Amino acid sequence: MSKPLLSVSNLSVSYGKVEAVRGVSLEVFAGEIVTVIGANGAGKSTLLNAAMGILPAVGEQAFDGAPIGRLEVEDRVAAGLSLVSERRELFSSMNVEDNLRLGAVRFSEREAQSRMAGVFDRFPRLKERRRQEAGTMSGGERQMLAMGRALMAGPKVLMLDEPSLGLAPRIVADIFTIIEDLRKDGVAILLVEQNARAALNAADRAYVMELGEITMNGRAADLANNPQIEQSYLGLH
Ligand code: ATP
Repeated sequence: MSKPLLSVSNLSVSYGKVEAVRGVSLEVFAGEIVTVIGANGAGKSTLLNAAMGILPAVGEQAFDGAPIGRLEVEDRVAAGLSLVSERRELFSSMNVEDNLRLGAVRFSEREAQSRMAGVFDRFPRLKERRRQEAGTMSGGERQMLAMGRALMAGPKVLMLDEPSLGLAPRIVADIFTIIEDLRKDGVAILLVEQNARAALNAADRAYVMELGEITMNGRAADLANNPQIEQSYLGLH
């Protein structure tokens, strides 16, 4: 295989004295959907936030062959890494277009317009609602808007933290279709999910995280058929 786009190795993240992520190594290659599954509190969000530069971390982090461990969030975005956080973090009193524009602040208005047209092609629903305030949109629409805003920056790797959280099953299916379309269009995906079954179905490779550590990794299809994984993570869905 070629070199990974995103790689973290021996990454640790602490909140005060509590080490929430311990010695984690993970890679995402171009063209891949990679998922991290694990129980509540396993450290999945902490891992993504550290890779994005939102939380300080110890260990090595590289993107596209260059070290990024010392880079601020906006420089990681410029390098091609974006995160849609669990909280989605939209500006609820701003409309769809203005929220999207915030994803492309480092580009000219003309460039932002052309990127927005691309986002509207992918999410026709957002185009219909371009003047609607984000705070009045449904959960699924807000998730699409948060993904659209991240895509405005033109990421090579898009990290998604619990994109299906709180959404009705039909909308969850739409979100997973979008994730697969993104991969086809050349955006590699790092997906954190509690909906382990859906995540393993969509992913090429998977990591299992328990109490801050990666305890298993491999082909998603193999993990989906692993009795231990089935018992721990697939029973409820
Ligand atoms: P969830 O799916 O519930 O978000 P997770 O796997 O994403 O779980 P994290 O949110 O990364 O897990 O949390 C990992 C651990 O770090 C947990 O024990 C959590 O309580 C702790 N933690 C998370 N955020 C903070 C914080 N801001 N301050 C202190 N501890 C935190």
